[in-house]
Amino acid sequence: MMSWSERINKELSIRLSMDALRQRPIIEYNTTRWLISKGRKYLNFSSNDYLGLSQNPMIIEHWQQGAELGAGTGASVQVIGYRLQQFQLEQDLAKWLDYPCALLFNSGFIANQACIYLLARKRDRIIADKLCHASLIEAASYSPAKLYRFNHNRLDSLVSHLNKPCLGNTLVATEGIFSMDGDQSPLIDIAYQTHCQNSWLLVDDAHGIGVIGEGGKGSCWQHKVKPNILIVTFGKAFGVSGAAVLCNEATAEYFNQFSRHLIYSTAMPPAQVAALQAALRKIQEGDGLRKKLKQHIAHFRAGAKSLPWLLKQSTSAIQPLVVGKNSLALYLAYRLRLAGFWITAIRPPTVPVGTSRLRITLTAAHELEDIDRLLEALHEVASK
Ligand SMILES: *Cc1c(COP(=O)(O)O)cnc(C)c1O
Repeated sequence: MMSWSERINKELSIRLSMDALRQRPIIEYNTTRWLISKGRKYLNFSSNDYLGLSQNPMIIEHWQQGAELGAGTGASVQVIGYRLQQFQLEQDLAKWLDYPCALLFNSGFIANQACIYLLARKRDRIIADKLCHASLIEAASYSPAKLYRFNHNRLDSLVSHLNKPCLGNTLVATEGIFSMDGDQSPLIDIAYQTHCQNSWLLVDDAHGIGVIGEGGKGSCWQHKVKPNILIVTFGKAFGVSGAAVLCNEATAEYFNQFSRHLIYSTAMPPAQVAALQAALRKIQEGDGLRKKLKQHIAHFRAGAKSLPWLLKQSTSAIQPLVVGKNSLALYLAYRLRLAGFWITAIRPPTVPVGTSRLRITLTAAHELEDIDRLLEALHEVASK
């Protein structure tokens, strides 16, 4: 048997030998459009702050005003109660997305874990898209329910799983827009098939909320589907942090009574609640920003077509260039870094082996000339 230290060192050396070690560089400044690291300025194409709201003066001002109410909340809402502002934000989110209830969580990761752990029991099954986020898959694989994974966006694969007998309940899980591929899931068909089997549908719309659909209402609104559980996160287009779970009244009450992730975790600080309230308004008024982002996406795709790598079929802000090997992805990211671009090589286990990629994210904080400079650099690196 290996000791703790032996195990840790072994795992680390395996990662190193596979060119799969992750970096955690220090950055001095990050405006979403550009950032500064070790005194050097880079154009930034790694941020999920799709509308640039993390720098919005009104949202920052609300954060500051919110902090006047106290830096922290001191306990979970079940222990200490919650402020009117938080109650109001939950109400506003529910009304905006046309759900009976919304519950705030401190992060999307926690919200996903909470949903899976609360719902999934022995004999139940979770059928999740193969490319679902680690937070969902991890919770599902440790839950007492059985986890099945259907081929990415393949309805036939989902249906063949659904058609197999199950003694318990079935939860189908997918995402609105996939985080590493940028493609959308066929939500209408998935919702229909799930409904036909009396199963529940959970959709994580971390990358769709705020960005697509009428008024930024996200993937489900765009496809006119209403999953039983909708998870929206606030660290991406909202430019802040946190998440909400949207569901019906009984489910919300069930969460409040039984979810350990809520009951045993300190409630969101008032500053964050205030900032989120302002961010929600900016999202609702954000048609101009969404239009600008759309132009950037079209401009990038037109210019990237002739690159020698696979440009994924994606109409979202996430534009991955799949290059294959870890070493090549790292080399390209390094060359781009030298040229003044902040783009990260995404490698397994985040993506399947052999599909390492440059995950380029475009935002409304960029200008068209930034996209031009990026395209020039990509063509330059490709020619060598
Ligand atoms: C980012 C992300 C999460 C986690 O959200 P956080 O609020 O950052 O913890 C969950 N699901 C998906 C699909 C994501 O991309």
